[in-house]
Formats: sequence, C-alpha cells, structure tokens
Amino acid sequence: MNKGQVFEFFRRLAEDNPAPITELEFSNPYTLLVAVALSAQATDVSVNIATRPLFARITKPAQMVALGEEALRQAIKSIGLFNTKARNVIALSQALIRDHGGEVPRHRAALEALPGVGRKTANVVLNTAWGEETFAVDTHVFRVCNRTGLAPGKDPLAVELKLERTVPQPFRRDAHHWLILHGRYTCKARTPECWRCVVVDLCRFKPKTPAPKTTSGRIGSPGPSAARTATGRIVRTRSEDRNRSRPNRLP
Ligand code: SF4
Repeated sequence: MNKGQVFEFFRRLAEDNPAPITELEFSNPYTLLVAVALSAQATDVSVNIATRPLFARITKPAQMVALGEEALRQAIKSIGLFNTKARNVIALSQALIRDHGGEVPRHRAALEALPGVGRKTANVVLNTAWGEETFAVDTHVFRVCNRTGLAPGKDPLAVELKLERTVPQPFRRDAHHWLILHGRYTCKARTPECWRCVVVDLCRFKPKTPAPKTTSGRIGSPGPSAARTATGRIVRTRSEDRNRSRPNRLP
C-alpha cells in the first residue's frame, strides 16, 4: 500500500471504533503484565475468566508471591500452559520486587528481562500501560498485515518493523488494537468476512469472501451489528464497538 492508502486504512478503522482497547481485564500495570503473560496461546475471554477472581485479591507482586505458585496454578488451571505460566508469574513478581521496587518498568529491555516476558508482551505493556507507540504483533496482526498488504513480513518482527516505519500519526498509538480487533472479528483466520469489511477496497487479498446467502437465496445482510454509511460502505454499529471498548485504559 502507498502512504495514502495506509492512512485511509487506519482512518476507517478509527472511524469504526474511535477508542479501541485491549479486551484483557486489568486494573494497573502489574495486573496488565500478568494478564498479557497468561494470554499466550489462550483467548482473552479464557484469561479474563481466570483472572477476574484472582485480581479481586491480588493486584501487587508481593501479594502474588505470598499467594504462591501452587495456589496460582489452581487459580489459572483453566488456561493452557498453566504450569509454566504460574512458574513465570511468580518468578517475574519476585524479579519486580527485587529489581524494580515492586513496580512494572517502563523500558523494553527491563520488561523483556522478566521471566516469561517476550517482545510482544513488552510491546503490549508499553502501549497499553504507558501509551508508548509500540506495535505488538500477535497472530491476528500478523495475518491482517500480510493478507491486506499493509505491512507484509515473513515473521512477527519483520511485520512490527514495517508497521513502525509506515503507520502515520494520529494512528500510531492505537494501531495495534485496531489491527487485533479487525483480525479477531472481521478478517478472521479461516474465513475473512470481506463483504462487511470497511477496508475491502484497500485490501489486496483475493479472492474476497462474498456475503453468505440466506435460506431464501438472497445475499445475506451484513448482520444486526452492521450498517451502511451514506456512501454505501458497511460499518459496524457503535454498540458493538462499545462492547469491545471497556474503559480499562489506565489514567
Ligand atoms: S477485505 Fe477481507 S481479507 Fe481484506 S482486510 Fe477485509 S476481511 Fe480481511
């Protein structure tokens, strides 16, 4: 895509969802860090189910260390890889106490030095907790960027560096949330829902998925959560956006 197309791509995603935010539930940088660490190869929904009762009691590293690995394992056993994740969360909590006074550091290198914290997790924390213009590339972002031609790359780091070079202001801070949500709800892995996609004319993916037919043989409508703009473009309604935009951004 050229510069103008990239700008238009994000302008439409922004118009569709002006205040995107992570769907993970958290209350401070520490609970955000833990939630993101737990979300590897797990859905945000499954992480939230496990962390909701946990974070009602535990919001600081010292509390997590006091809880202990076995109790944490029990609390998160519904999440994949829970044994390794429990071990890492206890270890990273100990490291935060030992090396950072119990606070989550605001620097990539310090974050990535924590047990179980990789580049993607560091990018999410830097962006969501501290408002840094970082581009976390998960499976959804990787797929959308390659399918559309927005930021093609052979691995997540290549895509991240391409996004870093090409995403314009004022979209840089929220770009990764828009891309995740677009991949999760519209540009889905198995069947992208191109017929109701707001960037369909900018996207290079072919062939585009046509609208499903109804039992009457008519072309299906975009669905109850979508509407057409005055120019005929299909967009989701704000009620759907609100469901994805809980006010959990940190002050
Ligand atoms: S047109 Fe289809 S493939 Fe392209 S971004 Fe939209 S949903 Fe994804």
